Amino acid sequence: MAAKNKTYSCSHCGKEFLSPHKKKFCSPKCRRDAAKNKPHSLNQFIIDKFIGEEIWKDKIAVFREMKFAKDLTKKYPLKAFWKAIPLKFDMDSLCFFIGAQGQAYLKIEYAKFCLDLKAPKKYDLSDTKYGEEKVLTKNIRTVKDFIQHGRKKENN
Ligand SMILES: [Zn+2]
Repeated sequence: MAAKNKTYSCSHCGKEFLSPHKKKFCSPKCRRDAAKNKPHSLNQFIIDKFIGEEIWKDKIAVFREMKFAKDLTKKYPLKAFWKAIPLKFDMDSLCFFIGAQGQAYLKIEYAKFCLDLKAPKKYDLSDTKYGEEKVLTKNIRTVKDFIQHGRKKENN
């Protein structure tokens, strides 16, 4: 009468368990925990980072911010980039990034991010720094390069 049990492995804890029906989780607890740890989409990540998790209680705000987030991730789809952006000020809406000032800000941050990605060449020479500075100076063509270059100088 009873359906035949089959073995499944829990998507959350990995434990094998028997069930008459196809199930993903061994227990309601695992199902709940998995939902809690569910990896956020990039859009959600951005909203959490810049606006804060409180916003998820406000459905209208979430709807609005998700639209902004979608626009932003279309332009900048790399999560590593969004992770790298420093949190310099409070904001209560991603619409900052949609405006001219915010877009300029993102451009600069993206340029810095791209430059950071390029592994610096390593030389065994003691004047490495000067050599690199010279190369950089030669290659300054854009504002973003200038900004990065300027920042490096400050750090010396
Ligand atoms: Zn489990």
